[in-house]
Amino acid sequence: MKYETVIGLEVHLQLKTRTKAFCGCPTKFGSRPNSQTCPVCLGFPGSLPVLNEQAFLFAIKVALALGCSIQEIIKFDRKNYYYPDLPKNFQISQYDMPLSYDGYIDIPAEGRKGHKRIRIKRVHLEEDAGKLIHPEGENYSLVDLNRTGTPLLEIVTEPDINSPGEAYDYLTKLKSILEYLKVSDCDMEKGSLRCDANISVRPEGEKKLGTKVELKNMNTFKGVRLGLEYEARRQMDAIAGGEKIFQETRLWDADREITISMRRKEEATDYRYFPEPDLVPFVVDKSIIEGIRKALPELPEARAARYVKDFGLSEYDADVITGQIDLAEFFEKCSRIYGNRKAIANWIMGEILAYLNTARITAAEIGITPEGLVDILKMIDKGAISGKMAKEVFAEAVESKIPPAEIVAKKGLSQISDSAELERVVKLVLSKNEKSVNDYKLGKKNALGYLVGQVMKETKGAANPTMVNEILKRDLEA
Ligand SMILES: [Zn+2]
Repeated sequence: MKYETVIGLEVHLQLKTRTKAFCGCPTKFGSRPNSQTCPVCLGFPGSLPVLNEQAFLFAIKVALALGCSIQEIIKFDRKNYYYPDLPKNFQISQYDMPLSYDGYIDIPAEGRKGHKRIRIKRVHLEEDAGKLIHPEGENYSLVDLNRTGTPLLEIVTEPDINSPGEAYDYLTKLKSILEYLKVSDCDMEKGSLRCDANISVRPEGEKKLGTKVELKNMNTFKGVRLGLEYEARRQMDAIAGGEKIFQETRLWDADREITISMRRKEEATDYRYFPEPDLVPFVVDKSIIEGIRKALPELPEARAARYVKDFGLSEYDADVITGQIDLAEFFEKCSRIYGNRKAIANWIMGEILAYLNTARITAAEIGITPEGLVDILKMIDKGAISGKMAKEVFAEAVESKIPPAEIVAKKGLSQISDSAELERVVKLVLSKNEKSVNDYKLGKKNALGYLVGQVMKETKGAANPTMVNEILKRDLEA
């Protein structure tokens, strides 16, 4: 029997605000444990939350960029549960009236022919819990509440994703959009972007959804793909073997590459949601929303379309370059000072991406500036350096951070040392400067300096000056 995989994703995104969602504590990552806390985020009785305006505006920005509608009345709810890293025993979240709803992201369809739309069910604002640290080999755990109360966006899709590959594409696209919005550092390693998945399988053609399993602990996009692949296979094998699938939460174990049952899944009713009495519902002025909408930056899709239309890049190149904000910015800066956009794109798709992937850095961290790359391209155009030399110069520039022009000068790479070529240019210069030639012959030796200058000008500074001097003297005195 053939099975269909049905996946819904839930992304949690830490917003890059200076302070927490409902108190004034800093959100700085990596500070001394429990140094960024106060009565509000520690859940002391009688302390009152105040909504962080910036977090709220960031949330609206994300929602609009994802094509969501904004709720007219903003309301927060308490989601009750006990965790040692959640001292209040509830999380301020949004339940029946999420901040925004009904958005979408388009991902490449199979075989890259057109797009597939993944609907976004809701984007809501909530607060993060703290962190439990389990020292290896010890029989105790440590609690760090610095993260408690950090503003978090939850972005939930409809179950529109039908393969682990589509889940990967969706996350890649979502992250790309979020990076353009500059609302989060989107760093999975620091936990500022996290992804959980709901996955079920059903016989092909079946309308009713299978029993879903929630999959957690996938800390990289690759982990999401591998975890979902494993889990889809596990469920298909179980059903084929006559087993029942339980609604449960399973953890992805990246080392062993398997999923492990963690707990039977709670239902929403278990959380006993109720309106947060300390935060009154409020209405957002439409002009605020429209102001944010107008100020939205050009997003990756629009930018890719512009690169295809205005610069003649291939769709594939445009998608790759605009897929990462830092790469797109690098391209943008180059294209402002150099007209051959295809040449820039070729270098980005070739040397630059290869280097970034090996060094595991982004284009913002690379050791060559856009001006540096353009200098290389111009030197190639002038014939001052060969394509092979250009690659050597690039390789040295990214490692040493020395501007390419300096590397070329230092190594003498650009000098034209081919005597036949230099003799040709010298003859040309002599024929154009009869007066200086006569001056020299009449004993005005400084005319030589002028003629050397003319040869340098003709070769755009690329000629080997010692050789030029020798050839000029020889020709003049012949
Ligand atoms: Zn606090």
